[in-house]
Amino acid sequence: MRAIRIAAFGEPEVMRIEEVPDPRPGPGQVVVRVRAAGVNPVETYVRSGSYASLPELPYTPGSDSGGEVEAVGAGVSLKAGERVFTSGSITGTYAEKALCEAWQVHPLPASLGFEQGAALGVPYATAWRALFQRARAMAGERVLIHGASGGVGIATTQMARAAGMLVVGTAGSEEGRGLVAARGAHHVVDHSHPGHLEQAMKEAGGPFDVIVEMLANVNLGKDLPALARGGRVVVVGSRGTVEINPRDLMSREAAVMGMVLPNACPAERESLWAGIGAGLESGTLRPEVGRTLPLAEAPRAHLEILSSKAVGKLVLLT
Ligand code: NAP
Repeated sequence: MRAIRIAAFGEPEVMRIEEVPDPRPGPGQVVVRVRAAGVNPVETYVRSGSYASLPELPYTPGSDSGGEVEAVGAGVSLKAGERVFTSGSITGTYAEKALCEAWQVHPLPASLGFEQGAALGVPYATAWRALFQRARAMAGERVLIHGASGGVGIATTQMARAAGMLVVGTAGSEEGRGLVAARGAHHVVDHSHPGHLEQAMKEAGGPFDVIVEMLANVNLGKDLPALARGGRVVVVGSRGTVEINPRDLMSREAAVMGMVLPNACPAERESLWAGIGAGLESGTLRPEVGRTLPLAEAPRAHLEILSSKAVGKLVLLT
């Protein structure tokens, strides 16, 4: 089978497409025939060698995919040919086939295509954990999704809207803002505009109970004065350092909390996939694929995900 292989950390060009042996499932494992693989920003940090935890070389990147079950090991109830999506993989999903643990493989609803399946894993699980497991956001609360046009942002927007929150989303392009509004935000503002937080509070009718933050190194200092009393900021993404005024937290008795998806324990993981499964079934959650590229163009995908304006999810087709 063909797979993207990385033999040394570095620039996107270290990703090469190669012929590698097909994976075989052991007990409790599944081989998925990958039709589409989701590209997440974390895969660029790992590829560059700058991320805190790094895989052994050589490796194939990717955890998210949409495809079909090709083969299963002992003790697995999934059947060959079943349509599935993955939220994790042992061998990596930037490949025609991916070996996964059975718990990383979920049924793909008939209403969703493989590309949409590839847009579910990291973005939807992250959005659920940020909004419900970390911020404990509740119906009736005002929520700002600071960076709503990308994979995690669209997912968070749909979840917050479906759960009865007042949702303000931000995006840096007109196309992105249109998408965020279409996917459920009550109001949308431009995060490249200097006064956008004041505008966001004005649109929402007051300060925010919850801010889901995709670029904390740029925004965190300004987020804090936009919080209501008892407000919470969940830091989902950050690409550097930032200065804050702790007094902005004191008077509001507000909190800043971090999150990384791998910290979800098995019970939390099961809970979040149950919630996401229900949303997919009812149609309140519907992944948005913005761009697709062939598998061999993984290097271009890594450049684009960091440099282009987001309009939903970037997906590789195998
Ligand atoms: P993505 O699809 O590339 O989207 C990036 C988002 O950030 C877009 O909505 C983009 O908006 C927005 N953005 C750009 N400049 C911004 C600014 N000044 N203020 C606010 N938002 C801004 O990436 P993603 O998959 O949604 O991930 C978002 C971030 O979360 C990334 O940094 C990623 O590494 C991180 N993440 C963390 C976890 C975790 O476990 N903690 C899990 C998944 C992702 P425009 O393009 O419209 O400007």
